[in-house]
Amino acid sequence: MEDIAQNIARVQEEIARAAAKVGRNPDEITLIAVTKNVPEDKINAAIRAGVQDIGENRVQEALAKYDAVRGPVRWHFIGHLQRNKVKYVLGRFDLLHSLDRISLAQEIQKRAAVQGLIVPCLVQVNVAGEESKFGIPPDELASFLQKVAAFPNLNVCGLMTIAPYSLDPEAVRPVFRRLRELFHQGNYPPEIEMKYLSMGMSGDFTVAVEEGANMVRIGTAIFGPRQNPNEEGE
Ligand SMILES: *Cc1c(COP(=O)(O)O)cnc(C)c1O
Repeated sequence: MEDIAQNIARVQEEIARAAAKVGRNPDEITLIAVTKNVPEDKINAAIRAGVQDIGENRVQEALAKYDAVRGPVRWHFIGHLQRNKVKYVLGRFDLLHSLDRISLAQEIQKRAAVQGLIVPCLVQVNVAGEESKFGIPPDELASFLQKVAAFPNLNVCGLMTIAPYSLDPEAVRPVFRRLRELFHQGNYPPEIEMKYLSMGMSGDFTVAVEEGANMVRIGTAIFGPRQNPNEEGE
């Protein structure tokens, strides 16, 4: 448990260093501890060490842990979300990072309207065009945003991407840079205010911070290696 606290401190230091390098204030960067495959006691240790944001990518697993996680934390849903699981996510998760298709937006809208909820969402963008990854292709983002802006119970407030896996974080810098450009592009429907830029994982978060990320999603660097490092959720 001690190493969890140490790992968090080290990650925060690296975030601060990367931010300083490009003249950013580290306080504007939210560290999301990704707790998939991590048992409750370790999650609670991370919370005691100062973590305020938790990211999960599987509904079932998150629900099983939800009540045992102690402390005032924000829950982030970061995995691919099936429509039939939307009902479990609404009202429990504070931010959905993985809005990636209209049928999902429609399901969220339908249920959120019934419950009187406004659902904060990030649009997942498949910047690198990987077959195996979910997300809107960059050249379809503008029209996707037009469509979802018309859904009154969705609050689209940013963009998220998962960079291709690489041992060399510099190799994925162009992916982060492209997402930042899309984020700042600004020709969005007036309903949409871009606030959150969610990019960077254990292997590449310092580069993501240099490129403007204000949410980083870190699992391995905090909790150690998992069995299934590349799975994207449901
Ligand atoms: C697992 C996961 C992460 C964290 O990955 P690490 O490499 O362990 O830091 C971040 N984002 C998403 C969407 C994930 O599924």
